[in-house]
Amino acid sequence: METQEKILQTYFGYEHFRPGQQDVITYMMQHHNTLAVMPTGGGKSICYQIPGLSMDGTAMIISPLISLMKDQVDALQALGIAATYINSSLSVDELKKRMHDIAIGRYRFVYAAPERFETASFLHVIKRLDISLIAFDEAHCISQWGHDFRPSYRSIVPELKKLRNVRVFAALTATATEAVISDIQRLLHISDEHVVNTGFARENLAFHVIKGRDKTSYIRAYMSEHSDESGIIYAATRKQVDSLYENLKKQGYSVAKYHAGLSEEERKNAQSAFIHDERTVMIATNAFGMGIDKSNVRHVIHYAMPMNIESYYQEAGRAGRDGEMSNCILLFSPQDTQLQKFFIEQSQMDDDSKQQEYRKLQAMINYCHTHQCLANYILDYFNDPSPKPACKQCSNCSKNHEKVDITEEAQMILSCVKRMGEQFGVTMTAKVLKGSKDKKVAGFQFQKLSTFGIMSAYTEKELIERIHFLIAEKFLSMEEGKYPKVRLNANSVDVLKGKQEVMMLQAPIPIYAEEADYDA
Ligand code: ADP
Repeated sequence: METQEKILQTYFGYEHFRPGQQDVITYMMQHHNTLAVMPTGGGKSICYQIPGLSMDGTAMIISPLISLMKDQVDALQALGIAATYINSSLSVDELKKRMHDIAIGRYRFVYAAPERFETASFLHVIKRLDISLIAFDEAHCISQWGHDFRPSYRSIVPELKKLRNVRVFAALTATATEAVISDIQRLLHISDEHVVNTGFARENLAFHVIKGRDKTSYIRAYMSEHSDESGIIYAATRKQVDSLYENLKKQGYSVAKYHAGLSEEERKNAQSAFIHDERTVMIATNAFGMGIDKSNVRHVIHYAMPMNIESYYQEAGRAGRDGEMSNCILLFSPQDTQLQKFFIEQSQMDDDSKQQEYRKLQAMINYCHTHQCLANYILDYFNDPSPKPACKQCSNCSKNHEKVDITEEAQMILSCVKRMGEQFGVTMTAKVLKGSKDKKVAGFQFQKLSTFGIMSAYTEKELIERIHFLIAEKFLSMEEGKYPKVRLNANSVDVLKGKQEVMMLQAPIPIYAEEADYDA
């Protein structure tokens, strides 16, 4: 529609809509509740800002990210648009003044956190207001299937849906699995034809998995070549953050740190130093990042594997919001798996939820072992609808690895799994193939199996890596849980019968690894 494009040009100064934007705007203008799933940096704000400007009344934006509200409001005000936000950072007087101005319809846009909609005084005001639209930003937080579930975000929905003075509802998110999408649809009454899913692809991100390297020396080598680029290093525990911080600081790098064990002031100062480029690299636990909108982050390095692909993609996705090429590097070691399992076991979740977390963890482990294009692996995980040529820049695509036929090795591994009764995990299977003298192996009488020691020429580490590869490529299945068991599946049977060959990339050579150093 010409008028929408005109608003895009005159208010925002952009020539054309990005994929999906115009559909979302058109549906909203026709008063159809709409869900927009677009990647970070894809331009979700404009999807509700243009309808908000085109319709009468006030647009209410519900955002769980208090720190982003001010930025959004500042940006709108700079364009000459009346906008404000309501959150706990305001003084009582300021809050009163803003609430009065909201009540008389002075603003086109009002940003508020979900919790605000639970207060009677706020509801009293908005019930009497002419509301153009209500937009749920970061809408995955509404769903308990989402990874950042906010109970109050969900509980306010029925009350808001009852309002008669709202023309249309919109939900926007960058991370939503199928379960989350249908949950949001059901809650907000969004029909299938009004779900605009442009996919999650972030073409400027190069994904890398690095295995078998000393993590700290890898980071130091990387930093020595990228010392003036802004980056985030995520570690799994506060202890890891502290020790990495000391290590890099000693080397003279400009670092800041952030975790829940620091005081609020320390965290605030660290965050601000990073945002304003006074410190180049932030070393943090996953407590850092929600609501951080820093566009020039050139690399996100994970010192350890996170708990699932959702968290990984969200954290890694903080790189390259400005569209420039950026690296997302995951440093994997087998201990990372143990740590994540420990977190799941220690949690208060019921057994079903734990089982689900184990399933998600397994998909994350498979990411570290697959030889497919890493970008496509992630997009497949989210059932991304867009076409997917190989990315040509991830650690599996970028080098000219040769493919080797490992069908025979695979058959040996699969038959060993079968002979062990499909009741054991990866390490035990590797020990049997190796012919290990381990007491546990003898305890189960595995030395009597015909597959005992048939791959003794390999190191145990190599065998573990091969088995993980077969799982990641779905030639073997993993029964998830505290004590996972390796099982055969239909693909395994095809391989054993010689109907299916198994090809593997020659060990991928990671960036910043001297070849002699590499051992995985
Ligand atoms: P998201 O919320 O999806 O992460 P934003 O709404 O913050 O993304 O938009 C990211 C950046 O892209 C912003 O700087 C925004 O102004 C810009 N942008 C949005 N739409 C367009 C467009 N059609 N053309 C050019 N730039 C755009």
